[in-house]
Amino acid sequence: MTADTIAGTAQHDEVLEPRGRTAFAVRAGETVRIVDLDGQQVADFVCFAREDPAEKLSVHNTALIQGTIYISAGHRLLSDRCRALMTITQDTCGKHDLFAGSCSEGTNRFRYGIADTPNCRANLERALAPFGIPLREIPYSFNVFMNVPIEPDGRISIREPISKPGDYIDLRAETDLIVGISNCPQERNPCNAFKPTRLRVVVYRAGEGR
Ligand SMILES: [Zn+2]
Repeated sequence: MTADTIAGTAQHDEVLEPRGRTAFAVRAGETVRIVDLDGQQVADFVCFAREDPAEKLSVHNTALIQGTIYISAGHRLLSDRCRALMTITQDTCGKHDLFAGSCSEGTNRFRYGIADTPNCRANLERALAPFGIPLREIPYSFNVFMNVPIEPDGRISIREPISKPGDYIDLRAETDLIVGISNCPQERNPCNAFKPTRLRVVVYRAGEGR
C-alpha cells in the first residue's frame, strides 16, 4: 500500500520541504508514517510523552533493551523510563540509525569550519518551541533512513541512504505523544546523498493505514 492510496483517511498530512521541520501531537493508537518522497533523505525523529514531556525517547534504552542498534518492523522506541512510546509496524527500507545523533551548529563548525548552517538540532528546537520543549530537553534522535554501518572493529561512517523514492516507515503511538521531525539539511556528507530533498509525514487514525 502506498501513502497515496490511503491519503483520504489521514488526519495530518504534510510535505516537508528540503531542510524543513514539523512537530505535532498524536494520540495512542495513531500511526505516524514518514515517506521518503524522492529517496535518500533522512528524518531526525524524536518523541515525548504528552502528559509529561520530561519522559522522552531514549535511543540508548531502545538499543540496549532490544539488543540491537538496527531497528525495523516489530521493534519499539523506548523512553528514558524504559516505557514503549512507539512501535514500528511497517518498514519498506529496513536501514535506519540509532547511533549518530543529530547534526548541529557545533558539529558543522567542528567538521566543516562553517558557522550558521541549517541543522537538525536547530530545526527540532524551532519545531518544538510551541510545545514548551526547550533545546536542552530534546533528546538525540532516531534517524529514519540514515545509513551508519558500524564495523566489527568499531569504526563508523556515514554512508548514503539506501532508501528509494516512496519508501516509508510506520510508527504506532503506544501512548499520547508529542512528535518532532527534522528533515535533515545536511549537505556536506553522504547523510542525504549530498542533496536534501522532501519528506511526507502522515498521521493515520487507529486501525487505518494498514
Ligand atoms: Zn541532520
